[in-house]
Amino acid sequence: MIYLDNAATTRPAESVIRKAGECMSEHFGNPSSLHKLGLDAELYLKQTRKMIADSIGTEPETVLFTSGATESSNLALRGIASVYGKRNKKKIITSAVEHASVRSTLAMLEQQGYEIIRIQPDENGRFQADDFIQAADETTFLISMMRVENETGRILPVPEVFRRIRKKYPDIILHCDAVQAYMKLPVKLKDMPADLISFSAHKIHGIKGTGALYIRKGIRLTPILTGGKQEKSIRPGTEAVPLIAGFGEAVRLMQDNITERLESAQHKKEYLLNLLSETPDIIINSETDKNFSSPYIVNFSVKGIRSEIMLHYLESKEIYVSSGSACSKGAKSGVLSAYHVPDSLADCAIRVSFSEDTTEQELDLLVQAIQEGQANLIHKKS
Ligand code: PLP
Repeated sequence: MIYLDNAATTRPAESVIRKAGECMSEHFGNPSSLHKLGLDAELYLKQTRKMIADSIGTEPETVLFTSGATESSNLALRGIASVYGKRNKKKIITSAVEHASVRSTLAMLEQQGYEIIRIQPDENGRFQADDFIQAADETTFLISMMRVENETGRILPVPEVFRRIRKKYPDIILHCDAVQAYMKLPVKLKDMPADLISFSAHKIHGIKGTGALYIRKGIRLTPILTGGKQEKSIRPGTEAVPLIAGFGEAVRLMQDNITERLESAQHKKEYLLNLLSETPDIIINSETDKNFSSPYIVNFSVKGIRSEIMLHYLESKEIYVSSGSACSKGAKSGVLSAYHVPDSLADCAIRVSFSEDTTEQELDLLVQAIQEGQANLIHKKS
């Protein structure tokens, strides 16, 4: 099997699975219980909280556990709107390419009367920090931007926007969806002065169903759920201790070699782009300049062959890729059209996303299979 869909999810690391298993079989207590079993379970939460906090440069008490980044962003955006969105402060600025978890939440807030400004990329498909700054004014209370866009891997200028907004409009709350950046690019609060950051465990070899939200001290938000005192009552409900234990282990595994892995992914991206450039009828939808794109994601269109057809052809060879964003399940997300990719090519888009385990040999086999697919599928059509 060749797995090239790591932006959708990653394979949990062996040590993550072991850690979660150990937690379930030996330390199954409720972390809120006052007895020893509870304290043992709570230790896992403490460890992971500290791991995540250390990795971005903050205090453990600013990190809360959720069921994943979708929940983190919902909690952040709805929670902030309900506290800071006032009659004369109704404006939220975002990018036109956010993940559905932010996009749909903001669309819902728009229906409730908030004004949503969606910043578009320029004609080269790059986001300009100035566009976000110029859109902000005294009526703005929130900016939500993703660091790495998940369909083509473009990098948004979040650190620059947040630094400049912080100086010019210190009251605006700053949220970042860092899901595709965390443990792949440096995500540090000293460079990116965010108030809120969303994280997901299963994109970094952790387990599905857990994530985190960083909330800067002093920021208030209304919880979505009501219940017990867990996670400061901001996210009540018994924490998913085994998954969170695995999250901590995933961070431990990944944090020490971010730069080396980045370089290695860049190498793989260039290798794949080179192979694709020698293949006819392939159009690259990703940015190729490494200053503006994550090396972990390559999006391209195979002219004349719809994404699902190619995806299933590759699947028949046990090669797993995605057609754009996994969350969109075939529905158009609008992200490619924001980059001026015509519908005829967006319908043929394939997203390949690497992990540290991806090899050049796998990329050779992928391109070989695509070429075979081109010969077979186009031949069949005529
Ligand atoms: N944000 C981005 C950029 C993503 O790629 C994803 C997952 O695809 C999410 C948010 C949602 O994360 P989760 O699956 O943890 O809810």
